[in-house]
This record gives sequence, C-alpha cells and structure tokens, in this order.
Amino acid sequence: MGTKSRETIYGSSIRASAERAAVARKAADRLACGAWNQRMLGFQGPAQPSPTLGDALNAGYIYLEVKCLGCNTHQTVALNVVRRPKATPVHELERYMRCKDCSQVRGYPYKRSHLVALRPTKITASDPPSTWWPGER
Ligand SMILES: [Zn+2]
Repeated sequence: MGTKSRETIYGSSIRASAERAAVARKAADRLACGAWNQRMLGFQGPAQPSPTLGDALNAGYIYLEVKCLGCNTHQTVALNVVRRPKATPVHELERYMRCKDCSQVRGYPYKRSHLVALRPTKITASDPPSTWWPGER
C-alpha cells in the first residue's frame, strides 16, 4: 500500500464505467420504448410486455397517449405525475385511465381506453395524435 488513496487509483475508471452503464441503459430504454411504440402502432398491441414507467421516463418518453373508446379522442397522460412505482409496466396503467368528458356525461368514472403509444411530447396542433399504421385507424 502506497500513499495514493484508492480513490486516486480507481476513482476515475469506476466513475467512467458507471457513466457508460447509464448511457447504455438510456439507449436500451429508448430502443425498448421505440419497439413497444412500433408494436402498438403497427399491430395495435399486444400492450404487454411493456416498458416500465421508469424506463419510459429515463428514455425521455414523458407522456402516454391513450384513446378513449367512448368519445374516440386521443389524450396524453404525463407519466411523471402518475402515482405508481417506477417499476410499474406502462400497460398496467390502461385500466386506471379515466376520460374526464365521458365520466361527466355518464355520471360515473369511464375507464375504457386503448393505449396508443409513448410520446416525448403532449398532443398539440404541431404534435398531432399518433396514427396507427398504415394511415388512419
Ligand atoms: Zn371519452
């Protein structure tokens, strides 16, 4: 044992490895979310298995796009405010999604919806709802 601390000897390579792992994990999460999106948009499911909330957030997919089967509108749910453990698979959220308009019209919580895709952005005029392949619906 010399006078050099283990931090001096090993610190930077340990940090570099951790950094490489984090980068690889993010890339893997991105690919997994992209693959799930393609399956949903190309085949309309099956939704399971699906990436977890944590994976989606780590990959930059902050929103889950859902289509209400009552009024046919597409809505986005912000995944960073969903109060579920980060290990929850995204498909498990389907049965918790409640359409505000339909619930109001019907007078009870209306929870019939179809998962569409993960998205990095909310639905806006410049970021239109996703369409299933090919073309509309
Ligand atoms: Zn609705």
